[in-house]
Amino acid sequence: MTVEMSDVQGPVLVIAPHPDDETLGCGGIIAALSDRGETVHTVFVTDGGASHRSSKTWDRSRLSAVREDEAREALRHLGAEMQPRTHLRLPDAAIPHSGCAAYEASVAQLESILIALRPRTVLVPWRRDPHCDHRDAWELTMAALEQTGQQPLVLEYAIWLDELGAPEDHPRAGEMDRVAIDAQPYMERKRTAIRAHRSQLGLLVHDDPDGFVLTENTIARLIGPEEVYWRDCPVKP
Ligand SMILES: [Zn+2]
Repeated sequence: MTVEMSDVQGPVLVIAPHPDDETLGCGGIIAALSDRGETVHTVFVTDGGASHRSSKTWDRSRLSAVREDEAREALRHLGAEMQPRTHLRLPDAAIPHSGCAAYEASVAQLESILIALRPRTVLVPWRRDPHCDHRDAWELTMAALEQTGQQPLVLEYAIWLDELGAPEDHPRAGEMDRVAIDAQPYMERKRTAIRAHRSQLGLLVHDDPDGFVLTENTIARLIGPEEVYWRDCPVKP
């Protein structure tokens, strides 16, 4: 189904597992609702510090700090400079799981953001994204939502599904509705915003040949005329 950008209602909570997911997954909604004067609160779940593990010059804390700066700049390009954002700073690639104190603390932090924001729309990573942080961020968010009892519209965005997903990772028949939002007017801003994530484009860390690099292919796949989300089917088969 096609949803008009004007149908997306704020306040919006954006859950980004890593700095760059906000732009790749949700840049159009962030830009459009910021332009409309609606509140868009972005939560960056991990510190993003695991993208260049072998670098001698960019240790985890230095890299994490620069990734927060990159996130701020990306949001500025999307027109969300003045919007609230939170960095939970959980360890990249090692988000705590249910049953430990760090997990409960993160759920509680998200819960207090939800209570303060009262979002009408929540953008979360796809529940079966091949990247563990994306799945874990979905789970944290769902746990926090359940605690609050809030029932906003939840839209899930898939970052790595089409490139790395196994068949069982994809939405099953009757499970989800595909929601495509016209993001054409925001494409250029999204392209500019993604360029702010220099550390993820191979432009910052030069001593880790195995470090993560976002390819042109991935950027082109995700920054297109449509922003695609998945929404729980209201009626299950
Ligand atoms: Zn990510």
